[in-house]
Amino acid sequence: MEKIKIFGHQYDVDYRELRGDDRLGESSNAQNRIVIDPWQAPSQQEDTFLHEIVHQISNVLGLKLDEGTVWRLAAGLHTIIVDNPQVFSLRLPGRGEKESG
Ligand SMILES: [Zn+2]
Repeated sequence: MEKIKIFGHQYDVDYRELRGDDRLGESSNAQNRIVIDPWQAPSQQEDTFLHEIVHQISNVLGLKLDEGTVWRLAAGLHTIIVDNPQVFSLRLPGRGEKESG
């Protein structure tokens, strides 16, 4: 299971199908867990991963960002990270699966 640290807290990154609504991901700072639905394209998994990270940053810092703002910030960060791999040598969820076939 992949892990990521957010403000010093280690989160498990889990991949499993989310049923019952239109959610593509979910996260909990009580359980230190981020869940990504693997039925998305790899680039969408990355976007969802960043979306959940922005939710957690908002929670920890008490920013109270609404869903639309979280979506816009994550989409903006995603484009910057993907379009500038020389600057951000990150391995985001989904990216490794695409490269390995
Ligand atoms: Zn959200």
